Amino acid sequence: MTSHPSRRDFLLAGAAALPLAGQPVAQGSHFTAPAVIIPPDSPPTVVASANGIRGVARAMELITQGVDTLDAIVEAVKIQELDPEDNSVGYGGLPNADGVVQLDASCMHGPTKRAGAVAALEGIKTPSEVAKLVLRYTKHILLVGEGAQRFALQFGFRIENLLTEESRQAWLRWRANLNPDDNYLDVPSGERFPTPPTGTINCCAVNARGEISSVTTTSGLAWKIPGRVGDSPIIGAGEYTDNDVGAAGSTGLGEANMKVCGAFLTVEGMRRGLSPTDACLETLRRVVATTEQRRLDPRGRPRFDLTFYALNKRGQYGCASMYAGYRAGHFAVHDGSEARLVGFAHLYEGEPPS
Ligand code: ASP
Repeated sequence: MTSHPSRRDFLLAGAAALPLAGQPVAQGSHFTAPAVIIPPDSPPTVVASANGIRGVARAMELITQGVDTLDAIVEAVKIQELDPEDNSVGYGGLPNADGVVQLDASCMHGPTKRAGAVAALEGIKTPSEVAKLVLRYTKHILLVGEGAQRFALQFGFRIENLLTEESRQAWLRWRANLNPDDNYLDVPSGERFPTPPTGTINCCAVNARGEISSVTTTSGLAWKIPGRVGDSPIIGAGEYTDNDVGAAGSTGLGEANMKVCGAFLTVEGMRRGLSPTDACLETLRRVVATTEQRRLDPRGRPRFDLTFYALNKRGQYGCASMYAGYRAGHFAVHDGSEARLVGFAHLYEGEPPS
């Protein structure tokens, strides 16, 4: 009996016939970047930072109902944005040096090749939704500050107080200890707020048709200089999607990531054929190589943490962090069976040196 190749074999054979990394796509093509177009033949997959464990379940539920990948992952990250207990994102996020919560978010939609972002947005609990509106209804990509807020109000959002009592107390204690010579009494070290100054949620998803999207949303670095914008709302740094290849995103010190456009670099790594995990590790090595001396310890190890999350068109996923101890060493995944935390790869053991 003659055996016919399955659709999957056929597509994979087709993929193997594509140009190898570093070779031009086609003779006479103006596009000379290496391309790996991976056939969509896999179940949907959603990955997120560890605080997205509820989010990956929600996104998967929506994707299996046929909801678009971007709509699904924005619903996923909104769970954290609206959660006052998550003080790294949205409502309840730790404020800037003036005690004001300023939020950043960006998103990309692979099938339509569109992007949207907002930065230094005040008074709106769900910046990811506003970023999606920028993507969907404007010719722009990034709106900031007051303009971003006015835009949100036009779409029916309400200005709300984002500073929870817990975050306000944390800010008051930080300010009290800022300067030993000011007129605020210092707070004893045991009473200081133990929260690390970074947070954020990134979420990326691919559906069974190979449609990919990514979103990242954050309140940014706690106590930042008012107006400071991190990596999260920067397309190519905080997140990036190329529907032919995959998506990536980051959490951790934005200033370290922005110099390498880490999400873009990670997607480019996967385009060259790296596994998602290896692509994340390669980006982290580039970050270390581009880090200024003052952020390195005497052994050359970064004094900060940074994590990349990656997903390719086949639904293969990976994650790597600078340090093993970041967020207890895990990221969140749903690949059809259940939402679960999975251990990530890392460059260095333990926690960042002080
Ligand atoms: N990447 C965010 C920023 O730098 C913060 C974080 O992920 O913790 O704004």
